[in-house]
Amino acid sequence: MTQQVLPDQQEVNDRYRDFIIQVQAGLTAIPAIGPESNGEGEAEKAEYLKQLIRDVNIAYDSLEEINAPDDRVPAKYRPNLIYKINGKSGAKTIWIMGHMDIVPPGDTGWDSDPYKVEEKDGKLYGRGTEDNQQAIVSSLLAVKMLQDLNLQPEYNIGLLFVADEETGSGYGVDYVLEQRPDLFQPKDLILVPDSGDPEGLTIEVAEKSILWIKCETKGIGTHASTPEKGKNAHKAGAQLIVKMNNLYTEFPEQDNVYDPPISTFEPTKKEKNVDNVNTIPGEDVFYFDSRILPCYPLEEVKARIRQWADEVEKEFGVKITFSYPAEKTAPTPTPVDAPVVTALKKAVKEVAGRDAKTIGIGGGTVAACFRYKNLPAVCWSNLDESLHQPNEYCKIDNVITDARVFAHIFLQA
Ligand SMILES: [Zn+2]
Repeated sequence: MTQQVLPDQQEVNDRYRDFIIQVQAGLTAIPAIGPESNGEGEAEKAEYLKQLIRDVNIAYDSLEEINAPDDRVPAKYRPNLIYKINGKSGAKTIWIMGHMDIVPPGDTGWDSDPYKVEEKDGKLYGRGTEDNQQAIVSSLLAVKMLQDLNLQPEYNIGLLFVADEETGSGYGVDYVLEQRPDLFQPKDLILVPDSGDPEGLTIEVAEKSILWIKCETKGIGTHASTPEKGKNAHKAGAQLIVKMNNLYTEFPEQDNVYDPPISTFEPTKKEKNVDNVNTIPGEDVFYFDSRILPCYPLEEVKARIRQWADEVEKEFGVKITFSYPAEKTAPTPTPVDAPVVTALKKAVKEVAGRDAKTIGIGGGTVAACFRYKNLPAVCWSNLDESLHQPNEYCKIDNVITDARVFAHIFLQA
């Protein structure tokens, strides 16, 4: 019953379109780029956001600022803002996280000023409009809609606006989790609208572990007409690649939450060796990119490839060493029946009339920061995925749908 009080897409558009454009334009005008990309950080944008929340009369019960010290930026800190709004019950908190930092616009490809929002055909163009200001605007809009209707949320609302998502989260959500581990409870619902799809159909709950393997083979180079005088590192390396293809059969587990449902082990980069055709190479370097289901410890994969390498060393008289340019064990996935998943599915169904489904991805999202702490977090939003590209835009309609879904969740008993 309570849900029927929420305005529909058109009503929200009529009432809040100007609000959405105002917030997007204000945030876009203040570039918040991390020092890794020679930027000045998020402090000015955070100050703007605090003032804006006062100006548009969004009421809150507390604001906590967790500043991560960082000497590389003029303000000497990276801001993290935590707004809390009390619900009828304080038994749990519905969290929505957005990040304030952006990636640099790049020099080319923009049809308009990346820091000046341009509206065209229902889209707001500008760097950061989609990634991740859409989350900031839609979460604020969800709260504002409830307050304009004089509705109190069922449970507490927490809005978390963080720094440093684009370059690792060490000064952002990871810092918050380290400083205030008590802020978040396993029974809380944590929503991270930082990835998604155009129809809001996918709820990301899991990721695969990542293991990049660099394999260096050392043999002895010689003239190609006298192979017996050398040890062909390339031939040995190629043999190892063929053996490593058996990783697929030795780590065969499937989990249909992922697409593809299996672990993947693919040879990718190959470093250049000799320049001429008539030389047997004494050195060979190749790489694998592996995306591995969390049920397999990475050490097991490493041990298996070492055994094959031992066999190849013996057969070819070469020396093989491995190193791992990227290695990240995936956290425990958010269960597909976790309350945050159930609440979100229900809201998407009732607001947008669609059936969202849970997925796992091969990459990694910032939701993992929560999952590593055994806090059930999901990534979801209506996104056209123009992020990180020239002419990044955010669809006004997507902001509205996201906001209505969040408001729906706030009202769920
Ligand atoms: Zn992002």
